Amino acid sequence: MMSTPTSFADLGLSPELLAALSDLGYEAPSPIQSACVPYLLAGHDLLGMAQTGTGKTAAFALPILQRIDLRKRLPQALILAPTRELAIQVAEACQSYARHLPGFHVAPIYGGQGMGLQLKQLGRGVHVVIGTPGRVMDHIERKSLDLSHLTTLVLDEADEMLRMGFIDDVEWILQHVPTTRQTALFSATMPEPIRRVAQRYLRDPQEVKIKSTTATVTAIRQRYWQVSGLHKLDALTRILEVEDNLDAAIIFVRTKTATVELAEKLEARGYGAAALNGDMNQVLRERTIDQLKTGGIDIVVATDVAARGIDVPRISHVINYDIPNDTEAYVHRIGRTGRAGRQGNAILFVAPREISTLRAIERSTRQPIEPLTLPSKQAVADRRVAQFKEQIMQVIESEELDYFAEVVNEIEEESTETDIHEIAAALAFLVQQERPLRAEGLSDALPRDANASRGRHQDDTRNRRHDSPLQAYRIDAGRAHGITPGDIVGALTNEAGIGGRAIGRISLFDDYSIIELPNDLSKETLNTLAFLRVRQRPLKLAPMVRRDRQEKRDGGKAKKSFARKKSGK
Ligand code: ADP
Ligand code: MG
Repeated sequence: MMSTPTSFADLGLSPELLAALSDLGYEAPSPIQSACVPYLLAGHDLLGMAQTGTGKTAAFALPILQRIDLRKRLPQALILAPTRELAIQVAEACQSYARHLPGFHVAPIYGGQGMGLQLKQLGRGVHVVIGTPGRVMDHIERKSLDLSHLTTLVLDEADEMLRMGFIDDVEWILQHVPTTRQTALFSATMPEPIRRVAQRYLRDPQEVKIKSTTATVTAIRQRYWQVSGLHKLDALTRILEVEDNLDAAIIFVRTKTATVELAEKLEARGYGAAALNGDMNQVLRERTIDQLKTGGIDIVVATDVAARGIDVPRISHVINYDIPNDTEAYVHRIGRTGRAGRQGNAILFVAPREISTLRAIERSTRQPIEPLTLPSKQAVADRRVAQFKEQIMQVIESEELDYFAEVVNEIEEESTETDIHEIAAALAFLVQQERPLRAEGLSDALPRDANASRGRHQDDTRNRRHDSPLQAYRIDAGRAHGITPGDIVGALTNEAGIGGRAIGRISLFDDYSIIELPNDLSKETLNTLAFLRVRQRPLKLAPMVRRDRQEKRDGGKAKKSFARKKSGK
């Protein structure tokens, strides 16, 4: 029995690969990786058996990447995969493991895609090719795929290739590659025809069998909601309100106009959201993605094309608001979450007539997608109450309240029948009118029209984490100037370099707005802020009140006396 190494470094991987694994947040090798990597690095042939989700891709990709000669731009490894989705997945994985290997090139080649692009990619020179059997045969026959320098061949998901009728193609390919190569065959099961292929084409293979039936890694939790009853928008906002661990989300829609419409609707409901589509120029797209990265916004509403390749580790949720056109698009979409070793979530909205698409996705990715029960109004209300309580405690802790305590005292003194509890309840009632705390107050009808609250201010109620106390600033731009909270956050994060999470509440009034920023901003930042413009308008940012740390401490005393009065009652 071989002893099981416990770290990637023990496996003998190069510093570049170790760095990539650490970037990705992989902490330790999975059992199949521990078992296979040393054999493959040593040049052995290998027969690996393990379930889906056990980490087979890295098990063969890492040794391949370590052994290729980057200076030779010729295919040195060929990986055969049963479907184009899997080919793309493996290609993306290779790319991410090779992030510190400069000049590394990989090409996925599969049927259904025009030959042109693939010929161009192959012509430019690649180190690793990942393909479906039929298309690989095509390229070998056309001589557009030169396998004369091939050193490693991997058959990934061999039983699946058998099931899909590719076994003869696979054998044909095995007969058309150099016999001096290393060969590895991976399969979840070992039916007789696969065993025969292994016996015929593998030379003295090492056998690795991982028994565990439970997948060691399931990075993305996939769920679907069958559209019924509620409007999609209401279902979406309910989900956004009660999902656990929601940090940032990317929402996929079908059209460019839908990205803008939905982003606006979410903004009107107080979310930091922005559209991302192909009509936006590169600079604007990158800026939007940067804002998502730094927390300036939490939601991006995107089309497939615009979102391709986005790598923002804080995306905790991918929401397929409109179902994707095909499985490949689905795989691309959900790949935006669960990155850097974090747990990801994918939610798919499915109309009744789209159920067959859902099943096709499940078949093709061979991952079950669980049904999601929409949170009830009560669940939403409960969550809001919890947040409200938290907010109150935060205010008690961080704000100077003596003036307000005095106001409350006056109310109490002016009316003999009113006690402090009633006053507090009335205040809670007032505060929640825009965002009801009671289940009965929640509508499941169409979205509240943002204009309905005209005359009142619109609060930007994103969750923020502050390190230092906040200071309120007045800016000379308000709703009448067409300003949105997103514009302000954008200007602050892009122009003044203030992290989105440092920005507090933003309240829009008709011709001015009030924003909260940390009270310890540097001189340079304040200078930049003084000249900041949003939508061509100079903001003339100015502090509302002067407040220094000493006064802050006095505020602490006032808080205690408020508490005493409260309990003395
Ligand atoms: P399989 O091919 O066995 O079905 P994959 O290679 O596709 O499995 O891996 C499944 C998921 O697990 C991928 O998201 C991958 O990034 C992740 N993964 C693989 N190895 C590790 C590891 N050692 N630590 C953390 N995550 C891993
Ligand atoms: Mg796999």
